[in-house]
Amino acid sequence: MIRVLHHLPDLKDCLLELQRVVCMDGKIIFTYSNKRNFARMAGYLLKRDPLNPFTEETISLGPTLIRHHPKYVRKVLTEMGFTRIEFGGVVVFDNIAVIIGDGKLLDSAGGSLAPFLGRAKLAPWVFCQFGTPNKDGFIETDCLDDILICPSCQGEIMHGADGYVCEKCAVFYPIKDGIADFRPK
Ligand SMILES: [Zn+2]
Repeated sequence: MIRVLHHLPDLKDCLLELQRVVCMDGKIIFTYSNKRNFARMAGYLLKRDPLNPFTEETISLGPTLIRHHPKYVRKVLTEMGFTRIEFGGVVVFDNIAVIIGDGKLLDSAGGSLAPFLGRAKLAPWVFCQFGTPNKDGFIETDCLDDILICPSCQGEIMHGADGYVCEKCAVFYPIKDGIADFRPK
């Protein structure tokens, strides 16, 4: 899940679902927006940004922009039993590249800094990979519908002509332009 997690309000709910669908010895990869990155620490210490990047609580800037502290992410992964946890960094100077008009130089600078800033958890985006503790093997199916459940109540869902409907709570999830909309209702 690359650049997805910062749109999801609850890290633990997301990880529970990943744990459910990933088989034994499976690997999960995601990136998260790092509230304690170098620029945000500097902004806070210079009193240009009022948000404290050093505290562990998650910051929500509106419903679709969530930032996590590295210690919180590691704590949740460990508590949920995930194994082989590794972190890396993603550094992109896209805003500066637009200002000075030199994307190539900043691409290479970002690539050079990413390993260091990732290990130190100072990168704006942290890349994380880890193994699942699941004991089960593969869910044997060739149909995506077999692993989908209702995100509201975890009940079974039925695939209809224009969407999915939950058999338990009756919530309807429409399909628009071929994309199922499972956002909370
Ligand atoms: Zn339901």
